[in-house]
Amino acid sequence: MMSEAADRLAEVRANIADAAKRAQRKAEDICLIAVSKTHDAAAIRPLIAAGQRDFGENRVQEAAAKWPELRAGTPGVVLHLIGQLQSNKAEEAVALFDAIHSVDRSSLVQALARACEKTGKRPQLFVQVNIGDEAQKGGCAVADLPALLAEATEAGLTIDGLMAIPPADIEPAPFFALLDELAERHALPLRSMGMSGDYETAVMLGATHVRVGTALFGARGQAAALD
Ligand SMILES: *Cc1c(COP(=O)(O)O)cnc(C)c1O
Repeated sequence: MMSEAADRLAEVRANIADAAKRAQRKAEDICLIAVSKTHDAAAIRPLIAAGQRDFGENRVQEAAAKWPELRAGTPGVVLHLIGQLQSNKAEEAVALFDAIHSVDRSSLVQALARACEKTGKRPQLFVQVNIGDEAQKGGCAVADLPALLAEATEAGLTIDGLMAIPPADIEPAPFFALLDELAERHALPLRSMGMSGDYETAVMLGATHVRVGTALFGARGQAAALD
């Protein structure tokens, strides 16, 4: 299991390096987030042993149960929240996570501003954009992005970048390009885009953070797939 995890990690890193090279970028400018949602400590430890330090979870509760113990013996672990966040969990999220990729509405901006003030912590923040304008998808509408960014600034929050999950089953590249353009337009340095099926494309189109689960851990269980 140990060497299997190390092999998968080496392969994903090599793919990122290849994509970066093709785009004349440096591999070290791209942060690989290992998405460990639904996987237990026994599955995560081999990746930590292989040198992986950035991990992504989509639920505050699950992360709070798993990570305090996992990160205790490991300096340098960086935890990313990549799932939707309820405003009433903002304080717990700010205390636990080093980066939050799912800032998507006014009420959450206000809750995060209060949480940062109270805890004295300043996680890296990404505004999630509903880049394909999908009815059921989380994220701020493209048209509402300027107002949400202005509100965050007003509330004393620094937004570091944008995050998106393109629509399923269609070519993601135009959506990655659009997210890159929106980030550029608003002078935001970070772009969180690309998952197991498309992270190399995302790297070629400017991703600074890729969120990879299945390619590192194998498939998630049926219950999680339906979630
Ligand atoms: C689960 C998840 C991922 C990882 O997806 P894989 O296809 O398993 O790589 C990336 N981003 C978000 C927001 C997720 O919820």
